[in-house]
Parts: sequence; structure tokens; C-alpha cells
Amino acid sequence: MARIAVLGAGGVGSAAARFLAREGHEVTVVEQFEPDHDRGSSYGTSRIIRKTYTDGFYTALMGQAYPLWDELEREAGERLFERTGGLFFGPTDHPELAAIRRALKDNGVPFEELDPAACARRFPRLRLLPGESGVFEREAGFLRASACVRANLRLAAAHGARLRTRTLVEGLEPRPGGITLALASGESLEFDRVVVAAGPWTARLLDRFVPLPFTVTRQTYCHFEPEVSAAEFGAEQFPVWIDFATNFYGFPYDGQAPGVKVAWHETGAPTDPDRVEREFHESDREPLRRYCAQHLPGLSPRVAFEKVCLYTMSPDHDFVVDHLPGEPRVTLVGGLSGHGFKFTVLLGRIAAWRAMDQKVPWELARFSLARLTR
Ligand SMILES: Cc1cc2nc3c(=O)[nH]c(=O)nc-3n(C[C@H](O)[C@H](O)[C@H](O)COP(=O)(O)OP(=O)(O)OC[C@H]3O[C@@H](n4cnc5c(N)ncnc54)[C@H](O)[C@@H]3O)c2cc1C
Repeated sequence: MARIAVLGAGGVGSAAARFLAREGHEVTVVEQFEPDHDRGSSYGTSRIIRKTYTDGFYTALMGQAYPLWDELEREAGERLFERTGGLFFGPTDHPELAAIRRALKDNGVPFEELDPAACARRFPRLRLLPGESGVFEREAGFLRASACVRANLRLAAAHGARLRTRTLVEGLEPRPGGITLALASGESLEFDRVVVAAGPWTARLLDRFVPLPFTVTRQTYCHFEPEVSAAEFGAEQFPVWIDFATNFYGFPYDGQAPGVKVAWHETGAPTDPDRVEREFHESDREPLRRYCAQHLPGLSPRVAFEKVCLYTMSPDHDFVVDHLPGEPRVTLVGGLSGHGFKFTVLLGRIAAWRAMDQKVPWELARFSLARLTR
């Protein structure tokens, strides 16, 4: 069995650690902050999970991720995936809606069509405008992101993994006998294999080995207070949703956090992950308020909660899962590009296979490093 370091205890790292520890390896997870901290990308109550993509490649891949989420829920003994259904909409003739329908049909994912009148009957707090229509995917919903990370770490520990928190890795040094991790404390740790799942810090950590063209961006979201009973925004009457024309999206009220979460999947300002502007500004809130006024009747402009988070964008928005060039003992997963949480369990599974030179049963050339560094 191998000594393996998993660098980063976010969505990907926690999942990779669980698989590797379950397979009997001697796993150490090294994390610069505390578990489930809010300075990376995986903290919070909710991330949308859906098979609805404009690109059937991701729809098919989600088909592989769903059973792994089910398995994680079973092993953790807690509900992590709220199956609320999802409404994905835009102007009826929008090319993305046509692509979505094609991807869902090609992959045998059931869906229903909703026009504004049907939407008003079923989801009175979500208004489609005249000329808009939507696709309702029953199997969509949201993942309790922080709880997923914690569950993975707990299960990894139960399988023997060690978790070293408040431990900053400053560099990796491949040597003939293994890989040395240089810690900021001055200590060195030796491993046979390393999985790098450092989210927004990945490019900086690996720039000695490979020029990763990732851009880290500042993203924001708000929870708004309902003017009506919060139950009217509850999951029985209000699904997760994405407006594919404008890239606004949101979640039902779930009782675990105040208000109703609304966000904008518009790539924010580039930032250094260690110098992020964490303060919220009116300019962060205003686009969300304007959107709510149009599409979410009954939601007030009053903010109940707000947060800054980070995306790590790759140039083509595809992920990277690969070995470092010329160094098969180091596996890298990164560039999750603002849509990766739903895949973290699968990416952790794949990283664990790749770290141990096992065959991945799907064609994933699209996630190669070479496509970005050629
Ligand atoms: C506002 C927002 C909304 C999103 N919505 C969705 C959504 O609805 N659906 C969806 O699927 N995805 C969504 N995403 C994307 C998704 O959350 C991220 O892609 C995913 O969480 C990235 O996980 P990660 O493990 O790569 O990174 P992280 O969670 O950031 O983990 C990286 C970890 O590595 C640690 N680390 C880094 N460098 C070092 C070092 N040198 N030494 C020690 N530790 C280190 C960090 O501290 C961190 O804990 C959203 C993201 C944001 C920000």
C-alpha cells in the first residue's frame, strides 16, 4: 500500500482521500486552513446538481456521478443531496435550450417542458416572462456542499486517513525515492504519491512544473428575505433554477440558512486567492436585486446573508485531471470553472484511480493538461 498525500481538503481532495483511504492506502490530507473553511470554493449550504447541460459530455458524466453521491449518502448516513427538481429556462428560441433538450434526450434523462402558464401553476414564486420557456429535470437538486466535504473527511478518517490542518504546503520536490512536500513550518513530509486538489491555489503551487492558465475570480451570492411565508419558497413549490440566457441561478429556501439564495454565474473580477476583497458592495447586490424583481415575486430586496467565494476558471471551462508532465506520481485535479462541485465525488474517484495508475473506465482526453499547455 502506498503513502499518499492529498493536498487540499475541499470538495475534490476530501473525496479523493476517502476513496484512497478506503482502498487501504496510508493517506494524509494536508490543508492550509481548517476543514470546511470559507476561503476556497466548496463552503456553504448548497450547490446545484443537474444532468441538464448544453454539452452532452457533461450530461453523460453526471450519469456516473449520481451513483457515487448515493453511495456517499449511504456511507455517511445523512442526507447530502436534496432532490428538489430543477427548472432551466430562457427565451424559447434560445440555442442553449435546444442544446439542453438534445443532450438530455441523447442520454435518456427524463424532462418536462414548461411554458410561463404551466410554471406559474406549479411554481408560483418563479416567473417566466412572455416568450420564455423551461425544461424541468426531476433528478436535479442541490448538494449540501459543506456537509459533503465533512462527510468525506469523516469517512476518510474512519478508514485511517490523517488530516493535517493549518498546514501550508509551499512546494513539491520529486525525488527518486518519493515526493517531498515542503511545509511553511520548515518541516518536510515524504510520500510515494501526491494528489493536488488545491482549488484556487493550484496554479501558484505548481508553476515550477507547468504554466497552468487558470484564472481565479471573485464570485458573490446573496440570500434574500421573502415577503411572503418562507415556505412558499420551499422545495415542494420552488425548484433549483438557472436562467440560461442571463446566467442567474438560485435555490429553494431550505430552513438551514436564512433567506432564499440567488447568484450570478458571470465570471467575476480576477483575484489573488490570498488577497480577495471579502467585503460586499452594493454593486454585488444590485444585479441580483434587479433579477429578483423581475423573476421572483414575493422575494424582498433585503439581504439575509451574503458571501464571497472563488471560481478557478480554465480557458475552455473544462476541468483538468492529469499527471504532472513527466511525473506520474503527482496527479492534479483543477480548473473546476464554477460548475465543478456536482462532479467532485467523481473527480475524487478518478484522481484516486489515476494516482494509483489504475485504468479510468471513461474517455477523458478532454481533461488533459496538454490541451492547455500545448
Ligand atoms: C459562488 C459559487 C457557486 C457555485 N455554484 C456551483 C453549483 O451550483 N454547482 C456546482 O457544481 N458547482 C458550483 N460551484 C463550483 C464548485 O463549488 C467548485 O468548483 C468546487 O467547490 C471546487 O472544489 P475544489 O476542491 O477544487 O477547491 P476548494 O474547495 O477551494 O479546495 C481546495 C483546498 O485546497 C487547500 N489548499 C490550497 N493550497 C494549499 C496549500 N498550498 N497547502 C495546503 N492546503 C492548500 C485550500 O485551502 C482548499 O481547502 C460554485 C462555486 C462558487 C464559488
